[in-house]
Amino acid sequence: MNVHEYQAKAILKEYGVPVPKGHAAFTPEEAFAVAKELGGPIAVVKAQIHAGGRGKGSFKEPEAGEKGGVRIAKSFDDVRTFADEMLGRTLVTVQTGPEGRVVKRLLIEEGAAIKRELYLSFLVDRATSRVAVIASTEGGMDIEEVAHDAPEKILTFSIDPASGYSQFHGRKVAFELGLEGDQVKQCVKLIGSLYKAFVEKDMSQLEINPLIVTEKGDLVCLDAKLNFDSNALYRHPEIVALRDLEEEDPAEVLASRYDLSYVKLDGSIGCLVNGAGLAMATMDIIKLYGSEPANFLDVGGGATKEKVTEAFKIILSDPNVKGILVNIFGGIMRCDIIAEGIIAAAREMSLKVPLVVRLEGTNVELGKEIIRNSGLAVIPADNLADAAEKIVAEVKKAA
Ligand code: ADP
Ligand code: MG
Repeated sequence: MNVHEYQAKAILKEYGVPVPKGHAAFTPEEAFAVAKELGGPIAVVKAQIHAGGRGKGSFKEPEAGEKGGVRIAKSFDDVRTFADEMLGRTLVTVQTGPEGRVVKRLLIEEGAAIKRELYLSFLVDRATSRVAVIASTEGGMDIEEVAHDAPEKILTFSIDPASGYSQFHGRKVAFELGLEGDQVKQCVKLIGSLYKAFVEKDMSQLEINPLIVTEKGDLVCLDAKLNFDSNALYRHPEIVALRDLEEEDPAEVLASRYDLSYVKLDGSIGCLVNGAGLAMATMDIIKLYGSEPANFLDVGGGATKEKVTEAFKIILSDPNVKGILVNIFGGIMRCDIIAEGIIAAAREMSLKVPLVVRLEGTNVELGKEIIRNSGLAVIPADNLADAAEKIVAEVKKAA
C-alpha cells in the first residue's frame, strides 16, 4: 500500500527523521494559509499523487502553467496561484503512464537551500531475507539510469535482523555519500531512525530521493516514498487510515473488498482461478499458447457463488478482455457449486466473449453436467493445456 509524500513525511517525523516543515492543502485558500503559517521566504508547492517524477512531469491542460508538479513560490500569492493551477488538473510523469493522474491534494512546505542531492532507499531483499540499504551520491535523478550506466556509484548492503542496526551501517553510508564532520553523526542517526521506522511499520519500500545536504550542512529528507506490506496492514490501522482509494485502480479496490487477489495486466485473456499457484500456471500456459493474460485473479480456496460473480464482473469491466478462461480445482469447494456460480455470473453479465471452463476435483462430473445443461455457450476443457489452447484459438478467431 502506498501513501502520499506528506503522509510519509509525517510518519518519518515521528521517528525523529529531519523533514521540511509543511502541511497538506486541498484548496488554493488552504495552500495560501499554510504558506503564511510557514512564514517564507520561499515555499514549495508539491502535487500529491502516488507516483514519482513530479518535478519533471507536465500537466495535460495548458491552463495548468508550463512548469511541473513541484514549484518554487517566492510569495504567498504565488503559492495560491500555483495551487489554483495544479489542483484538479492531470499531471503526467514517467511513472503515471500517458493517462496521468488528477491532482487533488498538495503539499506546501518550506523551501530548502540545497547544496547536494543524494539518494537513499531501503527495501526488503527477498534473496537474503533482509532489509537492504541502497545509497548513492547521484540523487534527484533516475536511480534506474544510474544503476544501468554507472552501477559503481551505488552502494548496497543488507542489515542482519538478528543483530539489527549498528552505527557502522550508518558510517558506511556516510562514507559512500562523501559526508564529513557532523554530517556523519547525522547520517548514523538518520539511518538508525529510518531502519526503526521501516521495521516497526512493516514497510516494503522506503525511498528518499533526494536526501539533501543543505547550505548550512544539515541532512534533510526532501522527498519520501513509502510502501507498506499489505499482509501486515492488519496490525497498522493508523496506516490503513491513510489509504487514498482514488489513487488505486478501481477494479483492484473492488477486488480487495471481496477478498479477491486481483492484479490487472495488459493482455486479452481474463483468468478466473482458485489458488495463487494455479493462477500463475494458468498465466504461464496462456503465454505458452501464444497469447497474454489480462489479469491475475485468485478467488481463493473457499470461493462462493457471490465471489465468483464479483470476479466475473471485475474481469469483464476491463475492455481489453476478449475471452475468459476459468480454471478451478474443486478441493474444499465442490465443482458443482462453482459451476452454478459461473452460470449465474455469465447470465447476469450477459457474457459476450468466449468462455472456456476447465473444472477438476470433487464432483467434477456433476459440475460439467450443470454447465452442459445450462444452454450457455460455454466451451468445456479437459485439462489445462486443452483449456489454454481453446481460449487462445477462440480469441484469435474473434479478432
Ligand atoms: P519527484 O521525485 O516526484 O520529482 P521531489 O520531491 O523529489 O519530487 O522534488 C523534485 C525536485 O524538486 C527535488 O529533487 C528538489 O530539487 C526540488 N525540491 C523538492 N522539494 C523541495 C523543497 N522543499 N525545497 C527546495 N527544493 C525542493
Ligand atoms: Mg523525488
